[in-house]
Amino acid sequence: MRVTVLGVTVDTYTMAETVEKIKLAVRGQTAIRIVTANPEMIYASQYNSDLKNVLNSADIITADGIGVVWAVRQLGAQIKERVTGIDLVQSLFPIANAEKWRIYFLGGRPGVAERAVEEVSSDYPAITFCFNHGYFSLQEEADIIKKITDFKPDVLLVGLGAPRQEFWLEEHPGLAYVGIGVGGSFDALAGTVQRAPKKIQDLHVEWLYRLLKEPWRWKRQSVLPRFLFKVLWQRFKLKSL
Ligand code: UDP
Repeated sequence: MRVTVLGVTVDTYTMAETVEKIKLAVRGQTAIRIVTANPEMIYASQYNSDLKNVLNSADIITADGIGVVWAVRQLGAQIKERVTGIDLVQSLFPIANAEKWRIYFLGGRPGVAERAVEEVSSDYPAITFCFNHGYFSLQEEADIIKKITDFKPDVLLVGLGAPRQEFWLEEHPGLAYVGIGVGGSFDALAGTVQRAPKKIQDLHVEWLYRLLKEPWRWKRQSVLPRFLFKVLWQRFKLKSL
């Protein structure tokens, strides 16, 4: 099911359903683009029609974060769980390993994607990886695109920061069967940024943990109350129709 949250159509797929869609796309050699949408992205898209188009033209938009799950429920739909970029990436590795996929990591500071590949390869040796850091110039971009094309990835994970990664994937179609914007996932896989402990994730306050660890996030996260308010307003308008 798809639910329109502030103009962005969010899918209510579970993690297992999202992984299944990816598996079918790789097996069937069909290209799909996936956005893991958080409240900041959805909020920003109201004031940026290019961003809204890039989000809404994706094949799958997952609810990345409890704020989006809450919004979907407020708007009357059922959704079981959030599907964040890093959780999705980690859920893909077992099937990627079983089916010997080729995965490309694009993004992160120099050295991070490489470390992430080393970490993941030790657990999933049947996956073939290639990588590039995410601080490249326009001139270097052509070489990177050639490197990706030559590698022929099944899955291209792009962690260039939102929303740049969403625009980048939309502007460069056909590089892989599955393209996913994954934010800071390579930092988490490489261990350069610690994720919140599982208990904190389960309490749905990972955003608070990240805010305390990375206080510069307050400006980004200050959008959250405005997002919540706008969703309540959307619900009010829907009910009064
Ligand atoms: N990043 C990048 N190139 C840039 C800017 C950022 O590769 O020019 C990477 C950065 O190193 C980090 C990620 O983008 O790994 C952060 O993305 P975002 O803020 O969307 O992720 P979040 O922390 O919200 O998951």
